[in-house]
Amino acid sequence: MNVAGILKEKGGAVETAGPGTLLIDVVQTLSNLRIGALVIEGDDGAIAGILSERDVVRAVAQHGANALHSTAAEFMTSPVVTCGTEETVSGLMAIMTENRFRHLPVVDDGKLAGIISIGDVVKKRIAEAEFEAEEMKRYISSV
Ligand code: AMP
Repeated sequence: MNVAGILKEKGGAVETAGPGTLLIDVVQTLSNLRIGALVIEGDDGAIAGILSERDVVRAVAQHGANALHSTAAEFMTSPVVTCGTEETVSGLMAIMTENRFRHLPVVDDGKLAGIISIGDVVKKRIAEAEFEAEEMKRYISSV
């Protein structure tokens, strides 16, 4: 399966915030929606950065609780690594492993079209492994 197939199942909604959003509001959103990252969009709608729970932890570790009154722009990561809709599950695993992050926004036709998390990748990889095991069992019992 590829990214297009994953997005067909989970949908293409992406939680975004502006660069001026305060970290205190970011953590509320992450907690309420039970997600790990927000894509930060500039005024022009382009991807300006990504801010994950790891960035919030780093901000608080470096500056204490006052960091929660800083803006997303101060702690987001930029530029953002993205993937296209044709990327495969093993390709996604390779990108996340090499870059040591767990979120990949999807860009299609120049527009933000979805986001893939490590949880989506693991779910699909398990489904693929189970399918392969079933096929193998079927093959073995047929010979
Ligand atoms: P994560 O493992 O996704 O929580 O993120 C770990 C670190 O990588 C954080 O500093 C994020 O801002 C950054 N990060 C996450 N996803 C991406 C991405 N797709 N492109 C660039 N940096 C990212």
